[in-house]
Amino acid sequence: MTTIFHRIIKRELPADIVYEDEHLIAFRDIAPQAPVHVLFVPKVDVATLNDLRADQAEIVGRLALAAAAYAKKEGFDEDGYRIVMNCNEDAGQTVFQIHLHLLAGAPLGRFGTKG
Ligand code: 5GP
Repeated sequence: MTTIFHRIIKRELPADIVYEDEHLIAFRDIAPQAPVHVLFVPKVDVATLNDLRADQAEIVGRLALAAAAYAKKEGFDEDGYRIVMNCNEDAGQTVFQIHLHLLAGAPLGRFGTKG
């Protein structure tokens, strides 16, 4: 599958990349929902969390650890942050390559059903 995120990984589309290693890439969301809004995307193709196999658990662990490391590096780990993974329609998933949202930089509203 080729999504926008695959094209960013291949440098076919520009992005404000803040971190990259052999397993994942992290770049700023184009439509930030908080002062800090970074997406952590694995380099292995997995469309949704429903498609993640048990032997791929490490992929999500790496995303979470990379987000925590970024928070520490940027100095907002103690103030706090939220990580979110949207799965399918009701959660509003729009890009079908799993990714973790890191939101921070201000007190965040609670989450839940639409008003
Ligand atoms: P989802 O709704 O699938 O969980 O999150 C997809 C996210 O990707 C959205 O927050 C959206 O703003 C972001 N996004 C969509 N297209 C692009 C793009 O071309 N570049 C960047 N940096 N973010 C994008």
